[in-house]
Amino acid sequence: FEEELSKRDALAAVGQLAAGIAHEIRNPLTSVKGFIQLIRERGSVDETGAYFSVIQTEIERMEGLLNDVLVLARFRHDSHMPEHFQLAEEACGVVRLLEPEANRRGIAIYCELLAADSTVYGLKQRIRQVLLNLCKNALEAVSDNGTKVAVCVLEKDGHVVVTVEDDGPGLPPEVQSSLFTPFFTTKQDGTGLGLLTTKRIVEDHQGHIAADQSPLLGGACFTVSFPASRFKSNGQNVADS
Ligand code: ADP
Ligand code: MG
Repeated sequence: FEEELSKRDALAAVGQLAAGIAHEIRNPLTSVKGFIQLIRERGSVDETGAYFSVIQTEIERMEGLLNDVLVLARFRHDSHMPEHFQLAEEACGVVRLLEPEANRRGIAIYCELLAADSTVYGLKQRIRQVLLNLCKNALEAVSDNGTKVAVCVLEKDGHVVVTVEDDGPGLPPEVQSSLFTPFFTTKQDGTGLGLLTTKRIVEDHQGHIAADQSPLLGGACFTVSFPASRFKSNGQNVADS
């Protein structure tokens, strides 16, 4: 038993070490990303543009991995404070961010807002990571034969709900049952940490996550919901106004 315990302590220590390294790598990576962006904006547009595009994509992949590791190790080094904010605004922000790349690949990604003003309470950056993970998975899923990714924000039973649907291949039973298993991936270059991280963040915010067949588009449908907060994003109590 004691041996088990010390093994677990050792594992936890490795996790903290990994998180510490992840945190230290993230800062220089951010500055490299910034300078690449500057070079792209200022430099002449020749064949090197394609190289920069690859560099940028790979940096974003590294950033994503580091962020996932930091969440999973429960590494608390965030200067972010919880706040009240409109979930719809974040969903639209993520869709706008992914739109150029999606369009280049012939995929239509759009956002439907049925609850534009609904607010939730929590770490905005983290919840953005949730939406980004789900949208990226959807875009990766449709790359074979699909054409659409639909994001919808609505309010239901005191919760603000975001659905991310695609018309990709959907979720066969063996995939569906392993979605949240660490390192489970069906992709050549996947980490298998995205959905686990997503679930962790959602549950840290007293929310729920579910995965199903999309009734609308026929591919996968991921649904995340967070308790609606009673406050507007300016901190004013809705009941007061
Ligand atoms: P990764 O994206 O690195 O593979 P994730 O945890 O994000 O890791 O996803 C795990 C697996 O879940 C994916 O490899 C894929 O098989 C499946 N999956 C996730 N989202 C979708 C989707 N929208 N459509 C089909 N399969 C999906
Ligand atoms: Mg993923």
